[in-house]
Amino acid sequence: MQYLQCSKCGRTDLDPEHVKFFQSLSPNGPTPCFSTYGCQGDLVVVTTDRRPRPTTKAQVLDRYPCLVGHMISESLGYFTPEVAANALLAYIKKRAFSCEWYTHMGGMYKGVWPTDEKLLEVGKSVVERSFRNRHHHSGYMAHYPQAKALVDHVRAGGQGPIFASWF
Ligand SMILES: [Zn+2]
Repeated sequence: MQYLQCSKCGRTDLDPEHVKFFQSLSPNGPTPCFSTYGCQGDLVVVTTDRRPRPTTKAQVLDRYPCLVGHMISESLGYFTPEVAANALLAYIKKRAFSCEWYTHMGGMYKGVWPTDEKLLEVGKSVVERSFRNRHHHSGYMAHYPQAKALVDHVRAGGQGPIFASWF
């Protein structure tokens, strides 16, 4: 497959239409990075036979919709689809994710703000538990079909819940 990647920040764009458009420009580039954080890098076409790891929340939702749904169930609806996707992206990028739930499990329940290392540990354990418990996500607050329907709604461009998945 071919995709676009920023030479500086590494962000990827997997949309084949965008690759085609980029290649139709003559000469190919330079085209500024689409990052909203003001990256000054340029896009280049990467050709590979492996799918790159997701680099954005939208890519995570597209690639791991079921796991994101199970993370919502595992959080008992605390996670919205977008926050769950962000938490999964942080896990993929080995970045600490400091939502209220993670910081609570990381030590805030005894009044200690967790270190990044601790937050990484918490994030890893949530992703692992979400996968391991996937056959047990049913019933009140953990109903997987409802979580997955919400994820699909957001993937289709619908507005996701703002505060938590069940309210
Ligand atoms: Zn960039």
